[in-house]
Amino acid sequence: MSNDANHHRQLIYAKGEMSDLIRSLDDQATPLGPMSTWPAELLNALNLMLDSGFPMFIWWGPELLQFYNDAYRVILGSGSNSKHPDLLGGPGEDHWQEIWPNIWPLINKVLTTGESVYLEDQLLPIYRDGKLDEVYWTFSYNPIRNANGKPEGILVVCTETTRLNRSQRENAEQREFLLNMSDQLRLFSDPEAMETRALDIIAGHLNADRFGFAKTLIKGEFFLIERDHHRNGVKPLKGAFPAKQFGTDIFETLLSGQIVMYEDVRNEARLSEQHRRSFTELRIEAIINIPLFKNGKLSAVFFAHYEQPHHFTIEEQVRIKQVAGLAWDAVLTARAEQELRLSELRYRTLFESIDEAFMVIEFSFADDGTAENYRFLVTNPAFEKQTGLKDVVGKTILEIMPDIEPTWIRTYGKVATTGEALRFEEYNEGTGGWYDVYAVAVGKDTNQVVVVFHDITQRKMEEQRKNDFLSMTSHELKTPLTAVTGYLHILKKRVTSDDPKVPDMFERTIKQIGRMTGIINGFLNIAQLEAGQLRIDRTDFDIVELVKQAVQEAVATVSSHHFSFEPTGPIYVSADLEKIDQVIENLISNAVKYSPTDSRIKLTCWSDGSTVKISVIDEGQGIDKADQDLIFGRFYRAVDDQLTSASGFGIGLYICKEIIDCHGGQIGVDSEPGKGSTFWFTLPVAG
Ligand code: ADP
Repeated sequence: MSNDANHHRQLIYAKGEMSDLIRSLDDQATPLGPMSTWPAELLNALNLMLDSGFPMFIWWGPELLQFYNDAYRVILGSGSNSKHPDLLGGPGEDHWQEIWPNIWPLINKVLTTGESVYLEDQLLPIYRDGKLDEVYWTFSYNPIRNANGKPEGILVVCTETTRLNRSQRENAEQREFLLNMSDQLRLFSDPEAMETRALDIIAGHLNADRFGFAKTLIKGEFFLIERDHHRNGVKPLKGAFPAKQFGTDIFETLLSGQIVMYEDVRNEARLSEQHRRSFTELRIEAIINIPLFKNGKLSAVFFAHYEQPHHFTIEEQVRIKQVAGLAWDAVLTARAEQELRLSELRYRTLFESIDEAFMVIEFSFADDGTAENYRFLVTNPAFEKQTGLKDVVGKTILEIMPDIEPTWIRTYGKVATTGEALRFEEYNEGTGGWYDVYAVAVGKDTNQVVVVFHDITQRKMEEQRKNDFLSMTSHELKTPLTAVTGYLHILKKRVTSDDPKVPDMFERTIKQIGRMTGIINGFLNIAQLEAGQLRIDRTDFDIVELVKQAVQEAVATVSSHHFSFEPTGPIYVSADLEKIDQVIENLISNAVKYSPTDSRIKLTCWSDGSTVKISVIDEGQGIDKADQDLIFGRFYRAVDDQLTSASGFGIGLYICKEIIDCHGGQIGVDSEPGKGSTFWFTLPVAG
């Protein structure tokens, strides 16, 4: 070691690589000459700098000779192309040409004005290890003054903020990418075209060989790939792939929201040999699967395949997840919108083309809460056709029909307030027509009602004509029949014949005519029922007595069956005697019709004090459960025509039910096929 070096050692005190290097600088290495001649300000600044762990350097003198400490040397990099160590002691401009135009004005300012400069996060790209690096800096240029206060050099305290900036920049880039992608996808309304476009866009952002969205089928048994994006030369994948083939519990893991990824399939300990083969056969060496959820449900899996092992950094995973999630959301939204458009179209078509009139009305209410008026919000073409009313939308019903029957407003108003749907048939004087109406409230508390209706005036008129005809013919038929019966009774008494069969033949003829009268009465009843005119003439009578007489009558006229009835004490009801008699006779004659010859038919009459129950129990063919409710309907016959030749129109039980209903009673049947039937009805006991 030279004397100089020893001498220098006394001028520079700090430890470290840069201190050593500066101490050992040759006397000729800088225009400053031997260190012993260096100005005290410079030496002071050098000592301060070299003692600091914070990156610092000095520019000194008119040449701006540069000295720096260990921390700064790290920033310069250490490759063979590094500015270090040539930079040490050399003129700044020679070494910093790439940024000189940017920094020279700052340096000049400090040297001429003596004001320091402080800047944050400045991008100053420098050559580092042979390549231009985007380096961000936060730094302060501070003047080093001589005894007269004039700046002779600059102490620079600086730190590199590149890392911080890079992640911020990447975040910003990702945000911009995502925004850009949603902007582009927004232009698509067809979800499939959108999915394809989304994959194209992602391709510019993702370094994978193949990727796309897979759907899960049959509760995760299969992954379905309908389309993928693949690099040139990479085989496309399409079809359904059994999930189990690619790992155990892969679907369950995805379902739990976790990413499934293998960075190096061939060396993946979690995969069995067979699973590994499934991947490598498809040339997949690395894979990432990201579950995508919608409304808490697994909706798709984003997959990316790599033909080489691939390390997924956390940042990359997050990025893929964000991009895939956003794209898939857009696709789902497009799908939902398409679905909505389609269903709107379907409804619109239906709405425009059905011949049911349709309207949406909105109510206004009086202070006491009663519906006062309603305004038309929507109507369809059939509305105009059926009502003859034009351009009603926006107007109120009272503007259009000032004297509409108040029941209409009240009825619809009730639907609006109670929310209960209504179906009814009603005559409207304003339009002179009958309507079949269905009214239902729109949601809750909207005061709006949807009404669907159609004109049934035609049908009503036909029904009326048919009823008129039915009751007229029945009436016309009854008169001659009554006469015939009368004459037959007289003839029976007057005719004397040796033939012993003659009285029996009279008896049978009278009975058949009686049946005919019964049938005609039935038709008359129906006509009355249809016209809503079934009249009940109530008297108080003993129903036990009535049943007793009916049984006696049956015993006298029907020899094919055995009747039994054990009368109890009297039970009084307030009812239409003739009609109740008709019900009992009907049930007895059905029991006879639908049970075999020689079987027993038993009647019972039983009361709990408030109601009385009359039952007719037969040993006949019985009735299927499915038929039991239906047989009380109009013209319904459960008869298997093969099984029985019993004649009838299927109106007997219908009339019985109407009669019992009018009395506030109930009628029904308990039966099992093959085991007979018990027909019963109840009536309130007279109070
Ligand atoms: P009809 O006897 O004229 O067909 P009803 O209205 O009296 O009409 O009866 C309706 C249907 O109910 C009958 O066709 C028959 O299938 C069934 N039914 C009525 N009574 C009985 C019964 N006692 N046993 C079995 N089936 C019966």
